[in-house]
Amino acid sequence: MRETQTSEAISPPQPHAARPRRAIWIVALAVCAALLVIVASFPRIERFYLRQAGADDAATLRLATQVLRGALERTEALPALLAEQPILRQLLAEPQNQGIVPFTNELLRQTALSLEVSDIYVMDVSGTTVATSNYRSDTSFMGQVFDYRPYFADALGAGLGRFHALGTTSGQRGYFFAAPVIDETQIVGVIAVKLTLDGFEEAWAESGSVITVTDANNVVFLSDRTDWHYRTVGPLPEAALEQIATTRQYPPSLLQPLDLRTEALDPDIGFGLELANVGVESFVRQTTLIASAGWRVSIHTPTGPAAQQAWTAVLLLSLVVVMIGLVIAIILGRRARLIERLEAEQSLAALLEARVTERTAALKSEVEERRAAEERLRATQKELVQAGKLAALGAMSAALSHEFNQPLAAVKSYAENAGTYLDRGRTAEARENVTRISGMADRMASISKHLRNFARRPQDLTGPVRLKNVISDALDLMQPRLRNVEVSYTCPDQEVWARGGPVRLQQVLVNLLGNALDAMQGRVPQRIEITLTDGDAPEISVRDFGPGLSRAALDQAFDPFFTTKEPGQGLGLGLSISYNIVRDFGGHLAASNHTEGGAVFRIVLEATEPDSAEVAAQ
Ligand code: ADP
Repeated sequence: MRETQTSEAISPPQPHAARPRRAIWIVALAVCAALLVIVASFPRIERFYLRQAGADDAATLRLATQVLRGALERTEALPALLAEQPILRQLLAEPQNQGIVPFTNELLRQTALSLEVSDIYVMDVSGTTVATSNYRSDTSFMGQVFDYRPYFADALGAGLGRFHALGTTSGQRGYFFAAPVIDETQIVGVIAVKLTLDGFEEAWAESGSVITVTDANNVVFLSDRTDWHYRTVGPLPEAALEQIATTRQYPPSLLQPLDLRTEALDPDIGFGLELANVGVESFVRQTTLIASAGWRVSIHTPTGPAAQQAWTAVLLLSLVVVMIGLVIAIILGRRARLIERLEAEQSLAALLEARVTERTAALKSEVEERRAAEERLRATQKELVQAGKLAALGAMSAALSHEFNQPLAAVKSYAENAGTYLDRGRTAEARENVTRISGMADRMASISKHLRNFARRPQDLTGPVRLKNVISDALDLMQPRLRNVEVSYTCPDQEVWARGGPVRLQQVLVNLLGNALDAMQGRVPQRIEITLTDGDAPEISVRDFGPGLSRAALDQAFDPFFTTKEPGQGLGLGLSISYNIVRDFGGHLAASNHTEGGAVFRIVLEATEPDSAEVAAQ
């Protein structure tokens, strides 16, 4: 009952291993979901890196702006200071004075060198250059007229002129500052200082980003990308175009729009960073102002590295997620396998247990059955032994009745004689007769006792028995049938002990003697030889002088119900029972024919030491 419950307990309705397996699926789904989220987050991640790239370049932009602004501010004050020199007034008063012009030219050249500006030149009120620091060069300004330049007009009108333009003579981009040369209260000319800006671009080119300076008309004036020069990045009004043409600021043919599209990188926070696409290139752009010049300085950071970083981050994140998923899946897989193995072991154990229980029950019932069968067999054997004994007695009944009748007849005549002797007063004879009667009675009592012992249901214990006693008791019992038979009995002098039961051994001998007598019936002379030998296997042999065992009897004499006797003469059980009795004692019964005729039966037993209690009892 308990086993049944146990086996139910270890085979639950749903296998445990299914749970980790389901968990593996969940992990796989979670990993896929995480990968989707990561891929979907790519724009955000990319924006993060773009912002970072922008932040990194903000310093570069600041520096570039400061340098540019510093250069402009430093140069801005120079014209007014230089205009103060009396030599300029002198020159403008006498422009044809061949003494002053070269002197002034050289002075301006020296000044330009020490102030690190590209050109300093002086114009009269008509805009004609009367002295210049570049008087030695091929592209000297001497005699050139710059009245179209706004800085000239501004200097004349407002006192300070400033302008940036592509130099019409030099072909270099420059920033021009101009101031009036005043004699007393009258403006007699204009002095201009030109700062060449080309050098800045060389420094910017090293940064890896693109820096542009855009003027108020949306024209890219400076940039380390030469192909962007003079490109417009916004609408260029008609008036502005006209003004550019008039002032010859830039050659109008160069003013082509730049294919620029911008959008705010963080529209929500207005961080100032823009995404700028120029043609197929894309940049993060940020801008500062140089208000005095009306310039916007922008730095364009290529987005390539940031996008690459974003992809790397996405890949790394994905890899980490996949690795974590794999590790979890491996752990869960191992757990599932472990649980499966445990379950298999448990169910195998349960199966074995169930089989063992089943087999044990089967064995128990087999043992029970066998025990019952043995019980039945033993009972049957007992019955058979008893039946065998009664059969032997039956066979002896004729002889027994004679045995009893003959002394009874004698007793009767002795008693009658004793009465007669008493009547006649012959007491001595009467006594003698009575004594004889008593002897006869003793003899009959002895026979009766043997018969009773033999016929009694056995309480025959197995143990050491005296074989001599057993043989003489059997001979006593068979005495009535042995009267006309020559019995020779040979035995050793000493007592022979063997393991057995006295009554059953006696029964075996009675059987053998009875069979011998039956075999010799009608033969003369009738002879039986009984031999007892001692040793490790004490042996009683019974030989008769009859016809011996037939071929069939040699083969089957010990089989139950084998008999060659007439119906009513024998049951065929005597030898079968005897065989079993001797075997129960640990010995054996053998049948053979004597070489000189007659059958020989040998009872071979186990020798044993007498034990004191048994010795006393026998
Ligand atoms: P039963 O005496 O009732 O026939 P037994 O088992 O004692 O049964 O004997 C079986 C048979 O063995 C006998 O019928 C007989 O044929 C044969 N047999 C037994 N003892 C002898 C003997 N001494 N001589 C010849 N045959 C014998």
